[in-house]
Amino acid sequence: MQSFLAPQRLLLGPGPSAVHPRVLRAMSTALIGHLDPIFLGIMNDIQTLLRRVFATTNPFTIAVSGTGSAGMEAAIVNIIEPGDHVVVGINGVFGTRLATIIERCGGNAIRVEVPWGQVIEPGSIAEILQRSSPVKAVVLVHAETSTGAWQPIEPIAALCREYDTLLIVDAVTSLGGMPVEIDQWGIDVCYSATQKCLSCPPGLAPLTLSQRALSVLKARRSPCPSWYFDLSLIADYWAEQRRAYHHTAPISMIYALREALRLIDEEGLPARFSRHQLNSRALIAGLMALGLSPLPPPDRQLPTLVCVTVPAHIDNEEAVRAELLRRFGIEIGGGLGPLKGKVWRIGLMGESSTEANVLTLLNALEEIGIRSGWVSTPGAGLQAAAHTYSVGR
Ligand SMILES: *Cc1c(COP(=O)(O)O)cnc(C)c1O
Repeated sequence: MQSFLAPQRLLLGPGPSAVHPRVLRAMSTALIGHLDPIFLGIMNDIQTLLRRVFATTNPFTIAVSGTGSAGMEAAIVNIIEPGDHVVVGINGVFGTRLATIIERCGGNAIRVEVPWGQVIEPGSIAEILQRSSPVKAVVLVHAETSTGAWQPIEPIAALCREYDTLLIVDAVTSLGGMPVEIDQWGIDVCYSATQKCLSCPPGLAPLTLSQRALSVLKARRSPCPSWYFDLSLIADYWAEQRRAYHHTAPISMIYALREALRLIDEEGLPARFSRHQLNSRALIAGLMALGLSPLPPPDRQLPTLVCVTVPAHIDNEEAVRAELLRRFGIEIGGGLGPLKGKVWRIGLMGESSTEANVLTLLNALEEIGIRSGWVSTPGAGLQAAAHTYSVGR
């Protein structure tokens, strides 16, 4: 068997996103013990930098070992106990997954469902909070990666304050690519993942808990049923004074995340958010010129993931994606569940969100379209994107 050398790929799918060479270099740094005082310093740095991207002063801000789903599971399994009423917004794959985890914890998931691509309106949450009290938590997906929909958080956060309910938010495809304001909006529990807008390999799930969430944790009637994700135990490892062994930290991933967060800090969040905005607008303009329209309504489209409907004149969307990968080395995503075969999901996350990548993808798509006959005005996509760039700055 030969050693593996990865082919060149342009990662424009729903994750993982491109990783900066500095992050890859950090990962190849020699190991030190996970209780070494130097390593504990690295963990402090991670906490400081994570608080900046989460825009919070929450002392409990950590990186859970595992991918985004580990963050999701940690959030739910610690807060929800058997019999708890939990309102969950469902407009795609991840809301559905959250409801499943809530039910596995014995919670009563009160589903607020809207068609995929739409977002949850505050009014429908208010209605349930009025009649089903007490509700332990409201759970929302900020950026629904399966549909490209951008869920407004603030109005629902205000409702949660009013009804003294916790707010749990999935920020897996938003953190580091668009504003996530934990303190200002009033989010109690929020988790993310490293391989999306933080541009790090998959393997850690940033997580932050407010004081309100911590008191709920302390007041649990029963111990957390998951030992690995029990935050009251994990807290002793992350607490600056203690650093007691719970499980071995994934050391190389912690190195990687520290470097990825340093890169974000150097760019600055406002610049990073406008970069994501501009590139997604240019891509959407280009795709629309090719006859592909975004699934979510105009004011609800994510700047980190563009989800477009594949028009009827493209009869084999899977073949187009396969050709993008084989001939151009470009990865984009297809649809999940009911959207399988109907949409393309193009991630412009972190390092992947660049003007060059947008133009490269549009160019490759047009070339495929010209050859297969569904692009009739060559250059229309590039022209629309170029126009956005020329006026957008
Ligand atoms: C990717 C994703 C997850 C799950 O993360 P994994 O790293 O795949 O476990 C959860 N929520 C959303 C919104 C996601 O996009």
